[in-house]
Amino acid sequence: MKAYISLAREMPEGVCRRALKARAEVIEGSVNDLLWDLAVHRYTLQKVINALWELDKLPKKSQVHQLFYPVLRSYGFRAHVARNIYSTALALVKSARENKGSKPLIRKMSARLDHQDARVDLENGAVRIIFRDRWYSLRLMHRREYVERFRSFKWKEVHVKCHDGELYVSIVFEVRYAPYTPRGLLALDVNLKHIVIYDGSSVRRYKAKFVDALSKRARAEELQRKYPKRWRYNKRILNRVKTLHKRARNIVVDWCRKFAKEIVLEAKKHNYAIALEDLAHLRENMSKNKNIIVWKLTMFAYRKLQESIVSKAIEYSVPVVFINPKSTSLTCPRCSTKLIYNHRLAVCSKCGFIGDRDKVGATNIWFKVLDAYAGECGSPQSAPAVKDETRQSGRTRNEGMRKVIKNIQM
Ligand SMILES: [Zn+2]
Repeated sequence: MKAYISLAREMPEGVCRRALKARAEVIEGSVNDLLWDLAVHRYTLQKVINALWELDKLPKKSQVHQLFYPVLRSYGFRAHVARNIYSTALALVKSARENKGSKPLIRKMSARLDHQDARVDLENGAVRIIFRDRWYSLRLMHRREYVERFRSFKWKEVHVKCHDGELYVSIVFEVRYAPYTPRGLLALDVNLKHIVIYDGSSVRRYKAKFVDALSKRARAEELQRKYPKRWRYNKRILNRVKTLHKRARNIVVDWCRKFAKEIVLEAKKHNYAIALEDLAHLRENMSKNKNIIVWKLTMFAYRKLQESIVSKAIEYSVPVVFINPKSTSLTCPRCSTKLIYNHRLAVCSKCGFIGDRDKVGATNIWFKVLDAYAGECGSPQSAPAVKDETRQSGRTRNEGMRKVIKNIQM
């Protein structure tokens, strides 16, 4: 996807997956039986991984089926569960080998179930599952409104896991993402203190909660430095470190969700698209940063914000564009001359533009989207070395964007 437009890429239209995640409790069947089934599941999955790991050359899927299917069935697993176990094992071993990693170890008690082995009843907020010979009914422990949101979608698979003595269910749905043709654009510039939004005429600034999270994380790392060996073994220090990290994480996650909802609803209201900096490029640009805590948190915060915005955008059919952030804050948004900075204030020596760094960033992101989709003299700017169908859809999308530009220029 990324290859054919270097300046920008759009979130492709098509089928996306969204998951309903909730804690669950067993309402029919015994919890212990369920945990036992999950334990046997983990045990056999590890067994299959061990066996595959011993082989010099990985067998094909059909061969894996012949090797393991009868054994897995003899453990009492249902046909599709058995199939899921050996294909998961094969995928894990394959990717570990490709990445030159060590043998995969299964620590989590979790299982994936297909249509044959699960029933989803969102009306009553319940799921029925079976691994071997017993059905279990689980109730989803989540707000009614949250569960209701998934009512109209088709479910694809059910994941069950046990973590820290709690049961969790996640139901994966297939959702069609068909973004509308935007009439305008909201460009977002993100940093730890502010989110700056430029909509083509005015700049708005939102205070981000990331600095609060940063101070929590810094305190945790301070403790770890103060007790370099002890913090791992001393229960009191370990708990304190864990709590601080968790709080930092929660601040970021909660804030991102809230903000994403706000911004996506605003875009939807005006039929606008949302433009964000591309995470992959951001990483390249930021790798020289010396403060490792700041860097880690920035990446985490940015990733969470992007995830939240994308998932909300899918829900509301809002188009999203990713922009290569290279030099977004270095050139003048008016005349593209290199800017001179005095602290965070930028001055253009050619046209006299004055603005602060974030404002420059957001404005430049906005213009970059126009550049990327306007093309030179109406010719598609991208020169794709891709398959025809991709190229075609690329062209229609470009046309969609060109309409945007027409509207903006009017
Ligand atoms: Zn200028």
